[in-house]
Amino acid sequence: MTHDHDVLVLGAGLAGMRAGLEAARNGANVAIVSKVHPIRSHSSAAQGGINAALGEGDTWESHAFDTVKGSDYLADQDAVEIMTQEAPRDIIEFEHMGVIFYRAPDGKLGTRAFGGASQARTYFVGDITGQALLVTLYDQILKAGVKVYEEWFATKLVMENGACRGLVALEMLTGELHVLRSKAVVVASGGLGRLYEPSTNALMCTGDGYSLAYRAGAPLMDMAMVQYHPTTLAGSGFLMTEAARGEGAYLLNSEGDRFMKRYAPNKMELAARDVTSRAEATEIAEGRGINGNVLLDLRHLGPDVILRKLPQIHEMALDYLGIDMIKEPVPVRPGMHYQMGGIKTDVNGATIVPGLYAAGEVACVSVHGGNRLGANSLLDTIVFGRRSGQASAQYAAQTVRSTAGEDLLEAEQARLQGLLDRPYTGETCAGLRLELATMMDEKVGLYRSDAGLHEALDKLREFRRRYENVAVGDKSRVFNQALTFVLELGYLLDCGETIIRDALIRKESRGAHTHVDYPERNDADWMVHTLLTHRGAEDPEIAQLPVTITRWKPEVRTY
Ligand SMILES: Cc1cc2nc3c(=O)[nH]c(=O)nc-3n(C[C@H](O)[C@H](O)[C@H](O)COP(=O)(O)OP(=O)(O)OC[C@H]3O[C@@H](n4cnc5c(N)ncnc54)[C@H](O)[C@@H]3O)c2cc1C
Repeated sequence: MTHDHDVLVLGAGLAGMRAGLEAARNGANVAIVSKVHPIRSHSSAAQGGINAALGEGDTWESHAFDTVKGSDYLADQDAVEIMTQEAPRDIIEFEHMGVIFYRAPDGKLGTRAFGGASQARTYFVGDITGQALLVTLYDQILKAGVKVYEEWFATKLVMENGACRGLVALEMLTGELHVLRSKAVVVASGGLGRLYEPSTNALMCTGDGYSLAYRAGAPLMDMAMVQYHPTTLAGSGFLMTEAARGEGAYLLNSEGDRFMKRYAPNKMELAARDVTSRAEATEIAEGRGINGNVLLDLRHLGPDVILRKLPQIHEMALDYLGIDMIKEPVPVRPGMHYQMGGIKTDVNGATIVPGLYAAGEVACVSVHGGNRLGANSLLDTIVFGRRSGQASAQYAAQTVRSTAGEDLLEAEQARLQGLLDRPYTGETCAGLRLELATMMDEKVGLYRSDAGLHEALDKLREFRRRYENVAVGDKSRVFNQALTFVLELGYLLDCGETIIRDALIRKESRGAHTHVDYPERNDADWMVHTLLTHRGAEDPEIAQLPVTITRWKPEVRTY
């Protein structure tokens, strides 16, 4: 079947729903497509909070400087200025929409401290901030009359005369394929965490949008910049929010020592994430870890703060490790958390492909550069979600809708049928994904080397060959997740390849990209963004762009 809209949004997380709401406010007929129910999007897992310079004595300039320093000077400063200037009004708008942010005893909006910030400027709802924002936004979407195709899985972007004009999606409940035609598409499909094992990301974070946009001709920028969060729970990799350290928790090694004093004497546990993760890795490598972990100690915060402000992580440590953090420290280690790179956009979410916009984690504006500060991602989703919603609606108002039809549907149907018809060879989707994700963690994780990256690229080529032999066990039409898992693995392979290739290009260490063969930051040669453009069977085209500097010249980065 075909369906017609002005603006289609791929993804119902915070970025997608914020984009959809704004496009509707600008008069567009909008639909959102999401492979999960909107309020199950990964944004709902965000615990710690959202940044804005809203408090007395705080300034957007201070927030912007912290963001630029946190990014290891790779962020584009014009984009950072926009995000930090617009943050306060967006937070207040969410409060007016109905988000019940924490209030301090004086009745004003209260904050907590977060890593890499010179002021406590993180606004929050307990440790369920993302969920609170997402549920409220979902109400607004329904109120604005935005159509939601929920549990529809996008398999392809529709391209016409070089412009993006819709997408093809599989209705999970029936197995039916649909062509959704539009004048513009906003890709807001979230991150790619499942490319790594372990990861803090939900199972649905499989990088679909990076791959779909890349294959449609949009360059991916700074893909090497993959963030490891310092505190993921031993064993499972679940996130122990940075808010724990924001509220005052310590990091201890096996000797009971607060080791951060040797790595970040001023900020201690609240240094930026790349710095703290590397410090933990060094402690563990030098024999001061405990079974490959360090300890997160909250005991001195007392039961009141823990149960009132951090109830979710208290419960997670209890459920998964049987540890009551009121009485015992919790073993944690660095784990994959966030992709700073992504689909290159301007500050209005536009890519170089006409009609194609991107926002949220999948996009690279770039406000996070080499390392994102905690609580700046939720902010990124709502500021640039809003801006891309507006820009896409304005673009759509001057554009004609796609005329794509049955032939496109048939071609896509044949491709999926090809997957379903593959004979079983012993190669499984889950097995191959785990091998890929373990390899990414080992060779393209916290530390990289030229030799390791070349091995990773060879491995990736092997995985691509083996991927052709992965059969789909379930042949039915209704909710065939075996089929969508195979499609997701295809997206992950594109993400893995672009990350490895980008890491091979950048011959320096900056932010999250720690290259043992080039251990120093090299501003003379590498104050540049790197872009990869898909070229079919050939290797991608590589390009560089200068970093936009408005007022903050690169300095030595200490915390
Ligand atoms: C555990 C955790 C805690 C975090 N805590 C914080 C925090 O406290 N503060 C902060 O600032 N950031 C935090 N982050 C980061 C932040 O939550 C995310 O970067 C952000 O929410 C991403 O939002 P998004 O809208 O881009 O994507 P998501 O919320 O991930 O939504 C993606 C959407 O795309 C849809 N989609 C994807 N592929 C397809 C497809 N093929 N077809 C159809 N639909 C598709 C999905 O259904 C989903 O609706 C956290 C992240 C994690 C994992």
